Amino acid sequence: MKRIANIPRNQKKRVVVVGGGFAGTRLVKKLLKDNFQVVLIDKNNYYQFQPLFYQVAMAGLEPSAISFPLRRMFQNKKGFHFRMGEVTKVNPEKNELETSIGSIEYDYLVFATGVKTNFFGNKNVEEKAASMKSVSDAIFIRNKILENYEKAINCETEEERQKYLNIVVVGGGPAGVELAGSLAELKKYILPKDYHDLNFHNMKVYLFEAAPKILGAMREKSSETATRYLEKLNVEIRLNTAVKDYDGKKVLLTDGSELESETLIWTAGVAARRFEGFPEETFGHANRLLVNEYSLVNGTKNIFAIGDISLMETEDTPKGHPQVAQVAIQQGALLGKNLKRMVNNQKPEPFKYFDKGVMATVGRNLAVADLPGLTLKGFVAWFIWSVVHLLSISGAKNKIFVFIDWAMNYLVYDPSLRLLIRPKIKGHQD
Ligand SMILES: Cc1cc2nc3c(=O)[nH]c(=O)nc-3n(C[C@H](O)[C@H](O)[C@H](O)COP(=O)(O)OP(=O)(O)OC[C@H]3O[C@@H](n4cnc5c(N)ncnc54)[C@H](O)[C@@H]3O)c2cc1C
Repeated sequence: MKRIANIPRNQKKRVVVVGGGFAGTRLVKKLLKDNFQVVLIDKNNYYQFQPLFYQVAMAGLEPSAISFPLRRMFQNKKGFHFRMGEVTKVNPEKNELETSIGSIEYDYLVFATGVKTNFFGNKNVEEKAASMKSVSDAIFIRNKILENYEKAINCETEEERQKYLNIVVVGGGPAGVELAGSLAELKKYILPKDYHDLNFHNMKVYLFEAAPKILGAMREKSSETATRYLEKLNVEIRLNTAVKDYDGKKVLLTDGSELESETLIWTAGVAARRFEGFPEETFGHANRLLVNEYSLVNGTKNIFAIGDISLMETEDTPKGHPQVAQVAIQQGALLGKNLKRMVNNQKPEPFKYFDKGVMATVGRNLAVADLPGLTLKGFVAWFIWSVVHLLSISGAKNKIFVFIDWAMNYLVYDPSLRLLIRPKIKGHQD
């Protein structure tokens, strides 16, 4: 028998929002001020602040400092229902959504499910490499690096030890650059204090980028500055270099060379998940859902897509918008306003992206920022980056905790989170 999720309907129009990330939560905040019944579905019961995943991976922040419970975010809001469940399929003819907790009816449906790591069909890399698309991924990386150092210290020869000390980051976008920079700082300032009998000269951080430069989406000047900063931190940058294969121990590059490493972190691309029920022509580049300027999915009447999963190809933006937090937030806010206009038979407003700029931080006092009409670097860019990110984190408590952690790390350079905590698996011994 078909299972129906237990969410009682009321007389209001029901908007079902799938995904409680930047886009979905902003939309829900807007809709709750209006006359809708709002159902939010997410496979996790918390919101994740992705730009700081790398600091959790580097033991600089606690996972809970960048995560926020979705039920708490919308506590005591009338007409709001949260359900933890995974969406698999949509049935546009019946206005029904298939989820792991049963089917859910909607009047309006919004996909805000973001994207996942794209391994470009390389199954070995997918299986063996670490990715950085969730808090769980970040904890996995933290554990992996600490575990490798515990193994390295017990190796009898330098040769045997080297594969634990080589860390490979693939992808020279902001996520890869930030990760490589903080790994280099971990090596320089922090790990030697814990592992004083290891020779840190042998710890190598590699950054592989298939394109001829890193931070390709930023201005030339910023890309060059970030390259200089990383080199200063002794990161080995290899441009025009792609990874062909990885078996968990050896990285094979397209130029035929090999490198031994127990840790390969893949930040080289993203793609959306394909949900069943949409016709083939709905999907654009990297499986993103093609939408018009009102975020309506092509060929549908009442299904919308916002944030990273959506691809709004217009005359002004033939390749769509960048997959960044500001686009997701602004699309969520506008759709909230437009849904209200639609139920009141008013014309919706088309989306226009207000670009506030792009930033990437490489390390302590080292960052680059492409702001409208202004390119910044060094301490000023790093300070602006820190303030913007601190203000964007959800929850006053999280803001305070992150500020304290950052201040302590800045002053003493010795974060206390280098903990190797693994979830207990039933049946295994502690
Ligand atoms: C490591 C990293 C660093 C980044 N740094 C920056 C930065 O510095 N600045 C910047 O602007 N952008 C940055 N980004 C990009 C930014 O995080 C994204 O653009 C933004 O998160 C997109 O928001 P979204 O709401 O579309 O998706 P997300 O924020 O990804 O939210 C999607 C939500 O959908 C849920 N979900 C997914 N699939 C399902 C399903 N089948 N069923 C139910 N729920 C589902 C997920 O659990 C998640 O809560 C970074 C991204 C990463 C990964």
